[in-house]
Amino acid sequence: MTFSTTRSQALFDRARRVTPAGVNSPVRAFGGVGGTPRFIDRADGAWLTDVDGNHYVDLICSWGPMILGHAHPDVLGAVTSAAAKGFSFGTPSENEVALASEIVDRVEPVEQVRLVSSGTEATMSALRLARGATGRSVIVKFAGCYHGHVDALLAQAGSGVATFALPDSAGVPASAAGETVVLPYNDLDALEDLFASRGEEIAAVITEAAPGNMGVVPPAPGFTEGLRRVTAAHGALLISDEVMTGFRASRSGWYGHETGSEGAHPGGYAGGAPDLFTFGKVMGGGFPAAAFGGRADLMAHLAPEGPVYQAGTLSGNPVATAAGLATLRGCTPELYPRLEATATRIAGAASAALSEEGVPHRVQWAGSMFSIFFRDGEVRGFADAQAQDTGAYGRFFHAMLDAGVHLPPSAFEVWFVSGALEGAALDTVLAALPAAAKAAASGRTT
Ligand SMILES: *Cc1c(COP(=O)(O)O)cnc(C)c1O
Repeated sequence: MTFSTTRSQALFDRARRVTPAGVNSPVRAFGGVGGTPRFIDRADGAWLTDVDGNHYVDLICSWGPMILGHAHPDVLGAVTSAAAKGFSFGTPSENEVALASEIVDRVEPVEQVRLVSSGTEATMSALRLARGATGRSVIVKFAGCYHGHVDALLAQAGSGVATFALPDSAGVPASAAGETVVLPYNDLDALEDLFASRGEEIAAVITEAAPGNMGVVPPAPGFTEGLRRVTAAHGALLISDEVMTGFRASRSGWYGHETGSEGAHPGGYAGGAPDLFTFGKVMGGGFPAAAFGGRADLMAHLAPEGPVYQAGTLSGNPVATAAGLATLRGCTPELYPRLEATATRIAGAASAALSEEGVPHRVQWAGSMFSIFFRDGEVRGFADAQAQDTGAYGRFFHAMLDAGVHLPPSAFEVWFVSGALEGAALDTVLAALPAAAKAAASGRTT
């Protein structure tokens, strides 16, 4: 079965005339897998419908936010009633307080948050706050961790340890990237060496709480704890980027997952909590809302109380905060085991199908987040993740798409499930896997 893509193709052609590569975020262009991106007309529950009328089970979920499924009635109701009362005021409103309270209630070390409009803005603001509060300028990040398209964070490691990063994007001045040190993920020795020589210059270490942007690479035992110990010993701050994991890895994000308040994996934060957190994706419910937060004494450095400037015309937008609040309220303790069960069934069936065809692969987990690397052996960092067979993934991806399942169009992404993924939608995914595994093995698309 191959779907007609006439209308998607026509829109893609038109889009390329007026928008670079026809898309407003690079991965959507299908560069990683080839072919024509599907232009989506509507979405409901677990399903996407494209402009040619084809239906797909959605395993992108807008890269995380649609954790309850698309157009969930509670969220839709909250959005329409908020919108009916006006779209944006530029003055304080109640929804902002309610959303901030919900976040503060869920993530114990976060005493205050400030709302922004994207994850990029959240990490950018957290870095400025960390630099303002410490009076230092160097930022440490890990290779393969994505924190949005902030200049200072678009740096990747060259080979070797603690190299000063070259900018990974044109248009990022060496002066911006030069204040960033990139280290390999899950390598505490490299971190300790860097701090031993330059600890007094370092404002903050930023890390994905459990990386999902190189595929899922959970912190090795002791790594999360080590980050806290080393930063605290040198007066540097620790920023935990939970834009992806927040309210997805558990009800209170990776923090809740690790502290065992969700019963899972105690110990990661036994040596103390991070100083600052960033959130986005799920907390916006599909609308532009994100946040950064932490201890009240740190947050007091922000304007207008303190000297660190930060602002936003649409920050705390009443419609976006209504969507976010309704979504978080739907993220009940009951949801997470259900997401994990769904993810476990899909990952198990995919792994069995790939094994059956002799396709090397590895499944890795962070709560209900998982991804499948098309290689053998543990993936502990970016270099491991890059050493996979992206061609096999591309064949697998297209066979799934042809069977009505929309995976992320890149081998380096999480497969996102939602609470709406059950019944016929789940059956569609499971039924598609054997032929996709065959396509991955054979080098031919079905
Ligand atoms: C998606 C993501 C961001 C960037 O968020 P945007 O809303 O796309 O700007 C930052 N950090 C992490 C961990 C992310 O997954």
